[in-house]
Amino acid sequence: MGALTLIRHNAHRMDVDGRAMLMHVPTTSLFELDRTSRDVYDLFRSHEAVDSALMQQQLGAHHTSETLVDCLQSFLDLDIVRDAGEAELPRPITKVEEIPLSTIILNVNTGCNLACTYCYKEDLTTPAKGEKMQFDTAVASFELLLKQAKDRDRVNVVFFGGEPLSNYALIKQVVAYAEPRGREEGKVVDFSLTTNATLLTEEMVDWFNAHRFALTVSMDGPKALHDANRRTVGGKGTYDLVARNVKMLLERYTARPVGVRVTLTRGVTDVIAIHDHLKHDLGFAEVGFGPATSGPIAVFNLDDGALKKVFEDMKTLGRHYVEAACRGENIGFSNMHQLLTDIAQGTKKAVPCGAGLGMLAVDKSGELHLCHRFVGSNEPTYGNVETGINVPKLAAFIEGAQDRSEYGCRTCHIRSICAGGCYHESYARQGDPFAPVYHYCDLMRDWVDFGIESYVRIMRANPSFFSRHIEPRRAKA
Ligand code: SF4
Ligand code: SF4
Repeated sequence: MGALTLIRHNAHRMDVDGRAMLMHVPTTSLFELDRTSRDVYDLFRSHEAVDSALMQQQLGAHHTSETLVDCLQSFLDLDIVRDAGEAELPRPITKVEEIPLSTIILNVNTGCNLACTYCYKEDLTTPAKGEKMQFDTAVASFELLLKQAKDRDRVNVVFFGGEPLSNYALIKQVVAYAEPRGREEGKVVDFSLTTNATLLTEEMVDWFNAHRFALTVSMDGPKALHDANRRTVGGKGTYDLVARNVKMLLERYTARPVGVRVTLTRGVTDVIAIHDHLKHDLGFAEVGFGPATSGPIAVFNLDDGALKKVFEDMKTLGRHYVEAACRGENIGFSNMHQLLTDIAQGTKKAVPCGAGLGMLAVDKSGELHLCHRFVGSNEPTYGNVETGINVPKLAAFIEGAQDRSEYGCRTCHIRSICAGGCYHESYARQGDPFAPVYHYCDLMRDWVDFGIESYVRIMRANPSFFSRHIEPRRAKA
């Protein structure tokens, strides 16, 4: 063998409870190192280049030549070690020639009856000024989805706003049109909606039940925390109304589990108390947290110290999740669930999300945006539901998104999970959808390492947790 070198950015080594783990970074695959592979790995880690003489001298007394050769071959196959003289290859960019949509997001109204202090929506307005999508725009959007999803069995229609229930009439019209049209094309149509729950009625809940909507409520926790930001246009807290409607929703709704999405802002960061209230007092199936870091009013955004504290609290709640998972229980913490899903399924992302690739958002004029968050922003649009997708323009964006080498993502050990991070977060903070939000990066790497530890612990104590609670999620998607 000639001299070989370790490709450090393709391997991430961690010790968990005395077990030596190695994450193969390009595929987010986890391996437990046996004694030979641990010694070989450590030899490469402490030398710039290793040849057979050095290997024999350092490890020959403890391992047979055969086991050393086998181990080396598996490292070569994984591209964890390489010929020391071999030049680094640029990351391959997958050419985008078509846009195989699975999801269309309809922005049914720019108006919202709330005025949450941290809302990022640039086109958001009051109910009176809300601009509603017309039915013919929604129909053209759905027809575009069917056309772009010709090889798929299922398609998704997401209703978004403003507050989508402020245009409930359109939602009902769209479902009445889409269900039979989907059947004609041999496709199942799934519907989903995120609501502030203030306008929910029993009649709506029964109708959603009949059409098996995936429902998510936006709510920020117990009264004092929720009312800090989630207020009416007139400035009144909405907790009492929302909690009442949520109780009604959770009692009546049987089609699917209902989740809740919490926005963490300055002063609203008590992850444990918020989870406890929403999961146990109100009864949501899953609680997910998103920090507000790019809202228009900086005072509500989390600064570095608060963000760090949020991640520490997320890890504390994550430990509760692990303890429960080891007993076979799922405490309904979406962020942790997603993290473990990424690790269990070996995520291999080239781009951070489906925005612009499997999913597009439509505004009231039928213009196509990367996702719901870009509707109303100054970022370019990518065609119109009447004239079709501007494929070359969108392809150029997606191909650009795959190459973040100038930003440091090339050597990052969570690049196959993160892939550069949310375009909208980058756009909102830095005016460039490709520029990583670096103050997130260290926290995200730490969060993924926490996920690896958690995965190893649950795997050891109760491996059936993954087949019962994690893998089914992929089957449904
Ligand atoms: S954005 Fe940051 S955390 Fe994500 S892949 Fe790039 S460097 Fe890594
Ligand atoms: S760009 Fe950001 S907000 Fe939009 S779909 Fe992707 S991750 Fe979500």
